[in-house]
Order: sequence, then structure tokens, then C-alpha cells
Amino acid sequence: MIGLIDANNFYVSCERIFQPALEGRPVGVMSNNDGCVIARSAELKALDIPMGTPAFKLEGLRRRGEIHLLSSNYELYGDMSRRLTQLLRDACPEVAPYSIDEMFVYLEGLTTEQCEGLGRELRQRIRRHLGLPVCIGLAPTHTLAKLANHLAKQASHYQGVCLLNGHDHTTEALLKRTPVGSVWGVGHRLAERLAIGGVNTAWDLRESNEKQLRKHFSVVLARTALELRGVPCLTMNALDKPRERIMTSRSFGQPTGVFAEVHNALRRHAQRSAEKLREQRSLARAVMVFLNTNRHRRDQLQYFPQELIALPSPSDDTRVILDAVRQGLERIHRPRYQFMKAGVMLLDLVDAEQYQMSLLHQPARDRHPFLMATIDQINQRMGQGTISFGMTNAPAAWQLRCAHRSNRFTTRWDELMKVGTHPGAIDACSSRT
Ligand SMILES: [Mg+2]
Repeated sequence: MIGLIDANNFYVSCERIFQPALEGRPVGVMSNNDGCVIARSAELKALDIPMGTPAFKLEGLRRRGEIHLLSSNYELYGDMSRRLTQLLRDACPEVAPYSIDEMFVYLEGLTTEQCEGLGRELRQRIRRHLGLPVCIGLAPTHTLAKLANHLAKQASHYQGVCLLNGHDHTTEALLKRTPVGSVWGVGHRLAERLAIGGVNTAWDLRESNEKQLRKHFSVVLARTALELRGVPCLTMNALDKPRERIMTSRSFGQPTGVFAEVHNALRRHAQRSAEKLREQRSLARAVMVFLNTNRHRRDQLQYFPQELIALPSPSDDTRVILDAVRQGLERIHRPRYQFMKAGVMLLDLVDAEQYQMSLLHQPARDRHPFLMATIDQINQRMGQGTISFGMTNAPAAWQLRCAHRSNRFTTRWDELMKVGTHPGAIDACSSRT
């Protein structure tokens, strides 16, 4: 059984843990430099404020106290994500982070009931230990687990945990009610094309002829149909399709604790990720670096750190990403551990064209689009890695505007939550001035 744990409105939920007064209120988190809304609470969504709304348009609502807008606090979100992964690792044999707030767990040798029981227990434990609300989808395949998670979020009677075994009446009824566009990896355009052939629901796709799907669409879609039948055939990489984040990771040929070796591997991954980012014409707002020791070597010390670095402005510049990766690695690397795997994840992607067209954003001074395009062209022609970046210098002092950032409660001694006896004390102390 595969489980997908996904935090509800992750950034907003992280903020609410330490500012409970925000519970039940419309809350938005803004991008770096307080540019636009990148995360919304359910209450803010209900006000029909779309993702990406420029912050200045909401200034009136904010000033009247009708909504709360916070600067992004990536250090806090990154640390909460790390804690979530750690909690799951303590409880499950295998954990694979999919994004900052989505993690797959792989459960073996448990009955359906036991899986569901574990799911409910995990959900409670995450709420109690971390304060994070999550939903959990359980199913025999990645695609069904994603769908189960979606259902757990939509319908309150699941109480946050939904299990689809892939072959009973419940699965059938649910798949019949699910538009095909809601299936993982089936985007808007693909859904429109499928509709022409009479494939409207997830059930229709499941019942489609596999060979026809492969012939008229793609191998990936044929595999998705199989996954809906409960036959596991998609790997994590294939699930990358609708790129919400870009991940490059690989195991080392030989485990190593040497900083320079780990750094070298990460530099390669960072450069590859940046290429993928430019290929799909996106910009990243944040970079996550992670390291894994070999969990099968019980005789060795175990350590699965991850670090999230916010970029000063959304970027697809390899040098900016390399800088962030080095900062992240310096924070988490410990030479006494033998690392087995290292990876780079690019997060909170935005469409490059849309971003550059909005007058709100001045192009960053250090952006050299032609330099990156030229390097990509040469590497395409002459082979990957023909031109690559050497060791980068110390990072520039990043001057961020983040007037409404909450405290970094879990990672800074001087920003711990303060508790007082008089009623307004918590509120007064937890907001930065
Ligand atoms: Mg989420």
C-alpha cells in the first residue's frame, strides 16, 4: 500500500501553529519581496482571491483587517517540512518526499484495515506533535493514492483519511464521479482531447483500451490507466509530468561524507534541475537540498537532513540556484555521516513569461537570459555538461523585503514563541515589528 501525506494549505498552516489567532481567518502568504499571494487559507479562497494576486491590490482589505497577509517565512516552512518527514520516517519503513508538503510512504505487510488505522494514527500524531493539519490518501498505486488524498480533502466524512483499494464498489463509484482532468498527470488540454473520445471520468480512463491509449496519446497515459486499475507502474519520476516542482537526485556510487564530493554531486543536480526549469519556461522561488544516509545499514549512523533556501526573486539562473544549494549544504552537512544520496528540488514554480510580463516586477539586475540560453544550446548540441559551472563564490548579501514575516519559531533562539499571562501577550509577541 502507498500512502500520500499532504498538508492542508501548508504555508498558512505553518503560520497558524504559532499564531493561533489566525485560525479560521482569511490568511495569505506572499512571495519574496511581498510581491503577490502564493498561498491561501480556505477562507481567503472563499473570498475569490486568486493565486498570484499582486499584494498591492489587497492593501485595502489588509489595512481594514479583513484579511491577513504575511511575508513568506521559508525558514519556518522548510523546518516544519523537515519535522514532518522525520516524524514519518520514525513511523514508516520508507518515505519519499514529493514536494515540500507532500510525502509518499510505502507500507508493506499490512492489511487494508491496518493501513487505514496507521493512516488515522499518523494524522493524529502529526496534528498533535507538529500542529499541522494533513490529509492522507492510501491506495495500491501512486495515482490512486493521489486521488484518494484529493477525496480526503474534499469530503469531510473521510475525516482526513481515504483508502481506495482499487477494485471494490467504493473505488468504482468514486472513479465514476471523478472528472478525468482530476487524475494525476492528466492536464486540462489532455482532458479536452480525451473528452472527444468519450473519456470523461477517471473510470472511463481506467476502462480504456491500453494499446489505444498508447497509440493515440502516450505510454504515460496508458500507465496511468493501469494505475487506476490498481496495477503499480508509475515511478516517482514519471509522476513529474505536471511540473509543480522539479527534482533531480541520485544515489552515490560509493557512500561519502566528504563535503566536496557531496557538493559536487549537488552541483550537478542543481545544474540539471535549472536546465529542466528553463526547458519548461518556469522560474523557481525556492530551492530544497536533501541528503540521505543508507537506511538499510542499521550499523551506521542515520541522518536525513533537508534545507530550504528562498531565492531573492524567482529565478532560472543556474548561478543563483548553485549559490542556494551551497548555502543549504553548508547548513546540513555533517562529515561523520556516510551519505548515500543527495538531491535538489526546485519549488514554488512560476511561469517565466507571465512573471516577466507583469509590470510589477523589475528584472533582477544580475539576470542574463542570453548567457543561460547560450549555455543550454551548447550543452544540447555538444552533450550534457559540456559547459558547467565551477565552485561559486560567497553569496551576495540578499536584501529581502519581508515586512510581515512571522518569527522563525523553530530555528532561531531569539525568535522563539513567547508566552505571557496577560491575554494579548501571545499575539503581541509573535508578530514581528
Ligand atoms: Mg498541500
